[in-house]
Amino acid sequence: MTVDLAITNAIVVTVDTDSTILRNATVVVDGGAITAVTTAPPPPAAKRTIDAVGGIVLPGLVNTHAHLAMTMFRGLADDMDLASFLARLLPAEGHVLSAETVAAGATLGIAECLRGGITSVLDMYFFPEPTDEVARRAGLRLHHGPVFVEFPGADGRRFDDRMTWAAERLAATEPGRRWVCPHSTYLLDEHQLGRVADLAAEVGARVHVHAAETATELRQVDERHRRSPVEVLRDAGLLGPTTVLAHAVHLSDEDMGLVAATGAAVAHCPASNHKLASGVARIPELLAMGVPVALGTDGAASANDLDLWMAMRLASYAQSVRHGAGAVPVDALVRMATIDGARALGIAHLVGSVEVGKRADLVVLDGRAPSLTPNYDPASTVAYAAGRGDVRWVLVDGRVVVDDGVLTSMDVAEAVAGVARLRPRIEAAVS
Ligand SMILES: [Zn+2]
Repeated sequence: MTVDLAITNAIVVTVDTDSTILRNATVVVDGGAITAVTTAPPPPAAKRTIDAVGGIVLPGLVNTHAHLAMTMFRGLADDMDLASFLARLLPAEGHVLSAETVAAGATLGIAECLRGGITSVLDMYFFPEPTDEVARRAGLRLHHGPVFVEFPGADGRRFDDRMTWAAERLAATEPGRRWVCPHSTYLLDEHQLGRVADLAAEVGARVHVHAAETATELRQVDERHRRSPVEVLRDAGLLGPTTVLAHAVHLSDEDMGLVAATGAAVAHCPASNHKLASGVARIPELLAMGVPVALGTDGAASANDLDLWMAMRLASYAQSVRHGAGAVPVDALVRMATIDGARALGIAHLVGSVEVGKRADLVVLDGRAPSLTPNYDPASTVAYAAGRGDVRWVLVDGRVVVDDGVLTSMDVAEAVAGVARLRPRIEAAVS
């Protein structure tokens, strides 16, 4: 029997329970699934064979906090803290966002993700419909849902209309991909947060929310709700095992206890947090309490790119400065970028590790890259040396979307041109 695809001559960072690493291994893909991960020769007869020439195969990276379409604002608000950043970006969004411009921005964001080895994304943005279609065609595993804010958002929907629209949209979404995205506890009142929680419970949606990103937010939320963001979410019924808290930088010991007790996950976005001077999240403490911590890039307007390799390194470096070298060990970094991200999205049964039975979301790194040589510890190479330029092949659901370094599932030139065309409008909106 001939299988669809075999990746041979690979070092496999499986990210299974034991963090097993296999050398001289073959990964067999058939029907979109991983059907064998083996060191036993010879490789099976396959319709296609990718010779990894000793390169690393790892699970596709999972980006647990993004605003894909914000690639269109990349580099427009640098050297600012979050408050100044939002003051510059929010009016621009009001002028520029439409289903068409969001589609252009998201297309570029999806191209950037796939080319950089990110195969799953949890997104949050207005006009989600066109993004869905682009992701489906390009082969990105996209999770997102309606965004809730108290004011009419960029799409002009008032809160009540938004609830109706969201309920319809969620009912039409397959159950494993249902999300609600209440923006934050500073842009929604308690009643609204409660209604979003009720909707999530009704349709079985998971929750994606910004929480405790900056010290300013804590003051705002305290003035508004007389509690911390995490406490407000708990009281609203939005904190639980299907919640992803984006950022979670400023957590008190009590907040961390609540997060741990409820099983909520944290989407740690170090590039954004450090660039905007939001702070350094208490990651070793969260990990010690058993909180699932995954990694995110945030939008390209704040962190300027969608690079999860960068996120792995920054997640380590900042903690080493605070707590000593190795405060977040290599194995934890690799897990945060892969299986723990999949867990946060509720898809760890499908993706996040290179194991038989999982869907084939895979990254193959360049086996001949000078910067990845030598390769004493493949997990260390992944966490500390690899970058987007080392990605040679990317598979999503068994489909080869990046082939020998070329993104083949999308028209990249058109993705770039689509956002380049928006430049005059965006420049006019922020000047
Ligand atoms: Zn964000």
